[in-house]
Amino acid sequence: MHHANPALTLPDFSATAPDTLQTAVETELVKLHALLDTFATETPTIADDALADIVRLETMENALEHQWGLLSHLNAVMSNDDIRDAHHAVLPQLSEYGTRLGQHQQLFARFNLVKHDATAFNSLSQARQRSIELAIRSFELSGVGLDDDKKKTYADISSQLSKLSATFSDNVLDATQAYKRVLTTEEIAGITETGLAMLKANGEKYLADNPDAKPSNDEPLYVATLDIPVYIAIMTHASHRPLREEIYKAYSTRASEVTPDYDNADNMAKILSLRAEKAALLGFNNFAELSIATKMADSPQEVFDFLNDLAKRAKAPAGKDLAQLQNIASDYGIDNVQPWDTSFLSEKVKQAEFNLSQETLRPYFPLPKVISGLFAIVKTLYNIDIVQVQTSLWHDDASFYEVHDAAHGELIGGFYFDLYARTGKRGGAWMNGFQSKVLSDGLNQLPVAFMVCNFTPPTQTDAGEKPALLTHNEVTTLFHEFGHGLHHILTKVGVPSVAGVNGVEWDAVELPSQFMEFWAWEPEGLELISGHVDTGEILPQALLDAMLAARHFQSGMMALRQLEFALFDLSIHAADNAPDAAGIQDILNNVRADVSLVKTPEYNRFQNGFSHIFAGGYAAGYYSYKWAELLASDAFDRFEAEGVFNTDTGNAFRTAILEAGGSQPASETFAAFRGRKPSIEPLLRHSGWDVKAA
Ligand code: ZN
Repeated sequence: MHHANPALTLPDFSATAPDTLQTAVETELVKLHALLDTFATETPTIADDALADIVRLETMENALEHQWGLLSHLNAVMSNDDIRDAHHAVLPQLSEYGTRLGQHQQLFARFNLVKHDATAFNSLSQARQRSIELAIRSFELSGVGLDDDKKKTYADISSQLSKLSATFSDNVLDATQAYKRVLTTEEIAGITETGLAMLKANGEKYLADNPDAKPSNDEPLYVATLDIPVYIAIMTHASHRPLREEIYKAYSTRASEVTPDYDNADNMAKILSLRAEKAALLGFNNFAELSIATKMADSPQEVFDFLNDLAKRAKAPAGKDLAQLQNIASDYGIDNVQPWDTSFLSEKVKQAEFNLSQETLRPYFPLPKVISGLFAIVKTLYNIDIVQVQTSLWHDDASFYEVHDAAHGELIGGFYFDLYARTGKRGGAWMNGFQSKVLSDGLNQLPVAFMVCNFTPPTQTDAGEKPALLTHNEVTTLFHEFGHGLHHILTKVGVPSVAGVNGVEWDAVELPSQFMEFWAWEPEGLELISGHVDTGEILPQALLDAMLAARHFQSGMMALRQLEFALFDLSIHAADNAPDAAGIQDILNNVRADVSLVKTPEYNRFQNGFSHIFAGGYAAGYYSYKWAELLASDAFDRFEAEGVFNTDTGNAFRTAILEAGGSQPASETFAAFRGRKPSIEPLLRHSGWDVKAA
C-alpha cells in the first residue's frame, strides 16, 4: 500500500489528544475574535478590500473547522470522558463566536459592499457570488438588519426558543423514561429473542430499584419501557393484543396531560407563537415562509400542493396495503384493524408472503465484496479510481482512500471509512465533510470526508477471520452515505461555504444519497456487490426476486404516515395566527381526516412528542424527506431510460449536480441534469404504485 498523497494534508492522529484539540480550537477562536475586533474598527470603502477581508476570515475559519472537525469526529467515534469534556468545553465558545459573527454589523457591511459594487461583483466566480448572497441572506435572517429595539426582541425570542426546545425534548425524554410496565408470561407471547433480551435487561434494572418485584418462581422479570427498540419489538411481535393497545396508548400520550409533570401542550403553543413573532419581525407572513425561504421549494403553497397531490395518489395503494392486513386480521382474532395492529399484522404478512429475512441475505454481502463492487459502480458512472492508501488513523477499524480522476490521473480528494460498531461510538451512519475544497488565497485544499457506519464487525473463526456480513438494509445505508461522500468530494467548487454539500438547500441535500441507493437494487449492481462468503456465488435469482417483491411492501401506508406528519408540520407553521394546544389538535385532526385510513384514537397526542419539529431542525421542513426522494427518483429515471451504467449519463450527473455542489440553487443544478423541472411520476413508479391510477 502507498502512502497518502501529501497534497491531502491529512491529520496525524497520534497528535490529537483531547486537550491538544481543545487548545487548538480555543487558539483559533482567539484569532477569529481578534480579526472580528479589527473588522469593527476599520471600515473598508472599496469592494476589493472588503472581499480580501472576507477571504481572510474564511481562511481562518477553515483552520478552526479542521481542529473542531477532529474533536467532534473523535467525540462521535471514540468517546471517553476526556474527549467528551474537551468537546463540551468548546461548545459554548463556538456558540458565542457564532452569535457574534451573525450580529457583526461591519462584517455584514463588507458583504454588502461587494454585492452592491456591480463591476466587482460581476467579475467574481458564480460560486463566490452565491456564497456572498447566501451570507447576506443568513445575516438578514439572523436579524442584523433590524433596528435596535427589534434586534433586542429578536435576541429575546431566540433565547426563549432555544430554552423551550430544550424543555420540549427533556419532557419527551423524561416521560419516556418514567414509564415502566411489568409483563406477565402471557403478555410476552410472540416477542422475539432480541426483544425478550431487552425486556429482561429492563427487568434487571427494575429489580435494582424494586427488589420486591422479584418473581417467586426464579423466572426472569420482563419489563416494558417506551424506548424505541422496545416499543417496536412489542408492536411488531407481541401477539397479546391488549398489551399492544396499552403500550401504544402510553407511547402516543407521552408528554401530554396523561403525564402532567412533563406536559408539552403549553410549550408547543409558546414555540409556535414565538416562531410566528420571529417570522413577522423579519417581514414574513408566517414561520413556514421563513423556513422555506432558505429551501429549494419556492413557497409553502408549492409544498402543500406537492404533499396533497402525493397524498391523493397514495390513497389507492395504501387502501390495498390496508386490505392486505385486513385479510389476515381474522386469523389473529382481530375484526377491526387498529393503529396498534398494523405493525403486528404487517410482520405476519411479510413472513407469509415473502419468507425473506434480512439475516438470510447476510452471507451474500461480505463487506469487502460490497466495497469493491461499490467502487466498480462509481468507476463506471463517474470515471474515478478509488485507491486505499496508508496514513495515520484513530483506530484499527478505520481506513483511508484516495479518489483520482481516471481520465487525467489527477488526485481529487479522499475519505475515511470507519464502518464497525464498537463501544464509545455513536450509533447510526453518517457522512461528515471534514475538509472542504478550498481554492483561494494561495490555498489549495482538497476535500476529505469521514464516512461512519455501525456494522457488525468481522469475527474470528478457526479458519481465520470471517469478514463483516451485511444485511441488504446495511448495504443501502453504505450506498446512501457514499452518495453524500461523493457529493462532498467530487465538487469542483473552491469556495468552502458552497463547496460539496455546503450551501445545498436542506430539502435537496439528500438527493445524491437517496439516488445512490438505487444501484444497490439493480440486478447489474447486485452482481458486482454480492458474492457468498464461502462460495463466492452471486445472489441467487430466487432471493433477488423475494427482495424485489418485498421492496414496496406497505409503501402506500408508510407514505401516508409521512405525509400526515409533513402536512401537520406545514399547517401549524403556515397558520395565520399561531394555534394554541387545542388549535394544534384541531389542525392534526383535520389532516388525519384528509389523509389517514386507520382512525386515530381521541387520546392520541402524537404532536406532544414530535421532537423533529419542536426541538429539532425540521420545523416547516419535515416534507424534505419526500421532496428529496422525488428528486432522487427523477434523477434515476434518466439512467433507467439511458442505461443504469451509461457513462455519459453518469458524467452528466457528476458535472451538473455532484461537481456544482451549493454554487447554484438546487432547482438549477437539477434542471441542468434533467433539462426540466422535477416530475412526480418516477417517485410513484419507484414506490411500486400504479402511475395512472390517480
Ligand atoms: Zn442522508
